[in-house]
Amino acid sequence: MKITIGAINDKPGSSKNYKTGSWRTLKPVINLEKCKKCWLCKQLCPEGCITKKEEGPQINYDYCKGCGICAHECTFDAIIMELEER
Ligand code: SF4
Ligand code: SF4
Repeated sequence: MKITIGAINDKPGSSKNYKTGSWRTLKPVINLEKCKKCWLCKQLCPEGCITKKEEGPQINYDYCKGCGICAHECTFDAIIMELEER
């Protein structure tokens, strides 16, 4: 479907209904032993799909598109991108 300039979203706030994680070809995997809980990955994830947990960051794979920003920006190399297998 082509979205025309000036198109209107007639269902604002509906993004939760669209599980964009199915677009992913690479999957971020967190090594909690290396993680220092700096939360940079949470700040920079464009999908907002990383949440703070007691044990460290948790990725919601229903919405993670596998962009790799979290892995690229993690100073402690605690996130690696693996090939998605479905
Ligand atoms: S950026 Fe890396 S070290 Fe910081 S919270 Fe995320 S995984 Fe942990
Ligand atoms: S790969 Fe991209 S979308 Fe997925 S958790 Fe990391 S920053 Fe967020």
